[in-house]
Amino acid sequence: MDPMSSVTATDAVLVATGHPLQRAGAWAVAVLAEQPSPGDVTDQHLDDVAQRLVDDVCAAATAPSDSDAYDWWKVLFALYPNSKATHSKRSRLRRDLEPEIAALFARDEPRGTAVKAYPCTFCGTPATTLWTKSNLPMFDTNKALNTLPAAVAGWPACRGCRIAAWALPYGAWVTAGSATVLSCETEAAERRFAERNVLRARRVMQLGFGKLRVGSRPELVALNALRYADVELAATTLWSFKNDNQEPWLRVTHARRAVPRFLAIVQGNAPLRRGWRLLEVALTQRDADGAVVRSGPAEAARLLFESEDGDGRSLLVQLNRVLGDPDRRLPLRHRVDATRLAFTYAKEILGMEPDLTPVATMVADWIEHGGGGPRGRWAEFESAHLRPHQLGQVLDLAKRRLYATGREVPCTEDDWRPFILNRPGGWAQRMLLSMAVVRILQERGVAVSQAPADPNEEARVEQLLSQPMLSSQEDDDYLMGAV
Ligand SMILES: [Zn+2]
Repeated sequence: MDPMSSVTATDAVLVATGHPLQRAGAWAVAVLAEQPSPGDVTDQHLDDVAQRLVDDVCAAATAPSDSDAYDWWKVLFALYPNSKATHSKRSRLRRDLEPEIAALFARDEPRGTAVKAYPCTFCGTPATTLWTKSNLPMFDTNKALNTLPAAVAGWPACRGCRIAAWALPYGAWVTAGSATVLSCETEAAERRFAERNVLRARRVMQLGFGKLRVGSRPELVALNALRYADVELAATTLWSFKNDNQEPWLRVTHARRAVPRFLAIVQGNAPLRRGWRLLEVALTQRDADGAVVRSGPAEAARLLFESEDGDGRSLLVQLNRVLGDPDRRLPLRHRVDATRLAFTYAKEILGMEPDLTPVATMVADWIEHGGGGPRGRWAEFESAHLRPHQLGQVLDLAKRRLYATGREVPCTEDDWRPFILNRPGGWAQRMLLSMAVVRILQERGVAVSQAPADPNEEARVEQLLSQPMLSSQEDDDYLMGAV
């Protein structure tokens, strides 16, 4: 390393660390300063960003409580409930409040002065300012990411990290009572997530939450950031929290590393894309006037994020629900699309590619030829298929009936044993088995569900399915220049 670059590295005024909240704040600073990354931020940029923070914080903290501008104060209150900006006894006069807020972001004492410097809690840069939890979200709470050791006066925080801590709500996906930040193996996705949220923060400050479109979610912003980053593999984590005085909480969800590749495969394949849209349409909720109260794209995006103990079942469960819903008379083509999406998800995300054909063929043979009407036997299989013991009974029954009618049985107990064992991942195999059975029955033209949908409804749904996947109405507003 040449002397110049080593000087640059050690003199960086802002570092994106591994701490998820600091990191999100550092990206927000980079976006606010219109710089490619936190490492490109200079002292002058920090001055500019600090001034913007002071302006916005003062505007929010002195706004009338019934105004749209007050919504940004609610965001600040959810993050820094005991700070000078949010305290109930704060001055409502900007000229009193401004110096107090500006002092939060003051430069550290120069090196060589009498003031002792400590390594910054986040990035290790020498820092002469000690901060307590009142200025740092999720510090010293019972759900804390960090707890201050006894007899320590505060957390050393360098200027870059102090500004990052308060730029956090710009780079996070915020509500009036919580914030969500993203960490990702791909920096381009982290930056994109921050960019979209900086735009959204501006809307919140101008209009308040009440005038934002209903139904956006951090998961949707995160998946679109991943698609924008255009990578094959990248693990993604969303950290959602509220830094409340009484009831702070922290919720962590993950999207698996293969999610970007899965999304690219779905995007690039028309039947899979229609399957995904089918899911989005099914998950959309409207009120009596037809206005969207829950966004399908946002709800579908949530299915790719799992909690710590997640087993990846949500998306398959929802797809199974769409396929099994007796009120939705899905045309054959839509069923095939949704089933294909389920198999792709199982393969790409869960790493499962079970051989379903022998057992699914036996079940389909039984439904078609086992005597009586196929609908009754389909119902029998459908009600049992997710429970190992009951499924085992149905498979045994199917085998015996096929023997009794003189038909060949295309599989043995060894073939179906994996489906009836009570073991992790077994449920997914059973669900896929059911989808494979549906596919075979459809190929053979065996009707087991309701009458086909009426053509007008089918045309309407077809039109919906042709629209882009993972679309965000808020993003559309930005593109249209609505704000
Ligand atoms: Zn620092």
